[in-house]
Amino acid sequence: MPDKSENLVIIGSGPAAWTAAVYAARANLDPVVYEGEMSREMIPGGQLMWTTDIENFPGFPEPVGGQELMDRMRDQATRFGTRVVAEAIADVDFTASPHRLVTSTGEEIRARAVIVATGARANWLGLHNEERLARTGGGVSACAVCDGALPFFRGKRLVVVGGGDSAMEEATYLSKFASEVVIVHRRDEFRASKVMVDRVISNPSIRPLWNRKVVDVLGDDFIVGLKLEDTVTGAQEELEVGGLFVAIGHTPNTEFLRGRLELMPTGYVVTPEPWRTVTSAPGVFAAGDVMDSYYRQAITAAGTGCMAALEAERWLAHQHVPGAEPPVLETAEAPSTIEVDASGA
Ligand code: NAP
Repeated sequence: MPDKSENLVIIGSGPAAWTAAVYAARANLDPVVYEGEMSREMIPGGQLMWTTDIENFPGFPEPVGGQELMDRMRDQATRFGTRVVAEAIADVDFTASPHRLVTSTGEEIRARAVIVATGARANWLGLHNEERLARTGGGVSACAVCDGALPFFRGKRLVVVGGGDSAMEEATYLSKFASEVVIVHRRDEFRASKVMVDRVISNPSIRPLWNRKVVDVLGDDFIVGLKLEDTVTGAQEELEVGGLFVAIGHTPNTEFLRGRLELMPTGYVVTPEPWRTVTSAPGVFAAGDVMDSYYRQAITAAGTGCMAALEAERWLAHQHVPGAEPPVLETAEAPSTIEVDASGA
């Protein structure tokens, strides 16, 4: 049976993927989105599916739920003819022309151009009540910038877990709303950069709690406290809190790309040219959190999704694919072929 042949495959289902799909479908590129499938770790729609109220996505003066925002983006993409397959991509061969993709059910497809928008996932502590309250909007979050300004966090004691730059940044941000921010860290020194640590230490609203780990999150519908354990003595204590922000790093969803595309040591896709989404493989573009460990916002993901679609459109036009005209945007250079080590090391 011949391989299924596609013009443009978009892998992922967050704001980057749906924005890329809207632009690609409106440009008659006939895109197909492989949105992934539900698993214990992953749900189609990405990290926003965990977010209850989004207050900082332009165009929504009232808070919008993460799931609703994703549903609306998906609807917008399908309205213009985007096809959606509820499967993940398990393997890729970007040396083949057209590119060869293998779905999670083992089906092989060919794609002239590919947009990788598989996002990243926040690392969690792995506690049952942490996961339960994060899913239900019970005051547990992995993104202070997304959730910290919500009314129910105001004037409360908030805890940030972690000792890196993210934890420092989140604590500083939350100190604008909280009565007190406590940074719970498992060691007795932060790994964050000095400037960020200095900012935290000099902030009278922030208090580090050294050598502690969270062993349980307390509260039925909403968090009311944490059970902490001293990592040196093993002693346990309870701390009354009104919110928990876990800032222990992110993991990009790039396992299936290892050795296939140039990745950073942290796993993020390398996009070597500033303000471009081209990757180490010609005709393969990356958008959203999978290539951005810095901003990690829905709106920036959507922006890079747009960029990737425009670049894919231009790429396909240069490949003389019927129906793919160069985009109106004439500022970008023609896609360059980049010589890099695709070993993923
Ligand atoms: P990170 O640097 O990897 O720090 C993660 C922190 O979480 C570490 O302090 C680590 O503790 C702690 N941790 C990890 N697993 C844990 C667990 N299971 N339980 C408790 N604590 C745990 O991650 P990040 O802070 O997200 O930063 C990621 C990258 O983005 C860094 O390169 C950072 O510089 C950059 N970043 C930059 C900025 C900025 O410049 N404005 C802002 C945010 C992030 P240990 O220290 O004990 O390992």
